[in-house]
Amino acid sequence: MNGGKAKRPYQICVNCIMDTSDSSIVFDARGWCDYCNNYHENILPHWHPDATGEAELAPVIDKIKRDGRGRDHDCIIGVSGGVDSSYVTYVAKAKFGLRPLIFHVDAGWNSQQAVNNIERLVDGLGLDLHTEVIDWLEMKDLQLAFFKAQVPHIDTPQDHAFFAALYNFAAKHGFKYVLTGANYSTECVREPLEWHYHASDLRQLTDIHRRFGTRPLTTFPTADIFKFKLYYRFIKGVRVVKPLNHVRYLKDEAIQELVDKFGWQRYPHKHYESRFTRFYEGYWLVRKFGYDKRRAHFSSLILTKQMSRNEALVRIAERPYNEETVAQDFEYVATKLGLTVAELKEIMRGENKTYRDYKSRMPMIELGTAALRALGIQKAIIR
Ligand SMILES: [Zn+2]
Repeated sequence: MNGGKAKRPYQICVNCIMDTSDSSIVFDARGWCDYCNNYHENILPHWHPDATGEAELAPVIDKIKRDGRGRDHDCIIGVSGGVDSSYVTYVAKAKFGLRPLIFHVDAGWNSQQAVNNIERLVDGLGLDLHTEVIDWLEMKDLQLAFFKAQVPHIDTPQDHAFFAALYNFAAKHGFKYVLTGANYSTECVREPLEWHYHASDLRQLTDIHRRFGTRPLTTFPTADIFKFKLYYRFIKGVRVVKPLNHVRYLKDEAIQELVDKFGWQRYPHKHYESRFTRFYEGYWLVRKFGYDKRRAHFSSLILTKQMSRNEALVRIAERPYNEETVAQDFEYVATKLGLTVAELKEIMRGENKTYRDYKSRMPMIELGTAALRALGIQKAIIR
């Protein structure tokens, strides 16, 4: 249940709501966890979601515009239909006057709501949309392989496709700037790796597919973490820009702005723009492993003063989604993957594994992360 480590007594942070469901969490004498201490020591002092931050970003925006002269688009943004990627699209066009190409990956699980939200945003802002459709038979085979591997991170095939398709496209078509919705405001507490392993670890993806897959991946987009971090960055010159860390970005306020301006529809919870993600975060992770991603998300909102700790405690005690929807989604997921409900239940009952049970690039990733932390580039805790 907890990655093979010895059980420790239950403890919850007195400042946020992270607890010992992260088996490596460390508490200080006050009862504060290491996410809270890291936030105050390493993130907050360098994070300026205000005029200072905008001034920091201004030269970057100018450079994106200069470098993009004569091109149809000066940057590219991967959009899922969720709030972070939607809001960064709005900020890029309406606030900064950039000319982004909107890039969307259809991995077969979009909710109608997500599709509507992307269309409204693209139409409302007068942008161009490029949609890449993943071959469903390959996607299905890879997803089934991850289910059979009994790991928590069964969202890896979807995440890997999103990220690899975007960066491969950017590099191929000479885009120098990828804008992302990554932000401290809603994500300063990152889920530990035992909950959510690196989707960009191609070695792990390949190993799991080799063991449990049945069909070759011929068109499925792949890009290893090092291709992305080193080759694309330094050889192809693709830069990643995170504008939401430089502007005022508060979740409820941002959603309201999108609703008012574009008729954007709100989701019941972060990342529920995909029916698969809803099943994975709300059911698979919670029921099979005891990992509740809302815990990290609510803790981020507590640290950034967008939710009180009391409200978070009340909400985390409720089920992520109601029993009726769970049953519907369970059947939907099973059928779509070519399983019966009984077969999916059988998989759910299997022995839990972790990313450590399969080949991975973890030793090299740890080295890289240590280097980035030493250079002060990587500020969030990743473990
Ligand atoms: Zn804490």
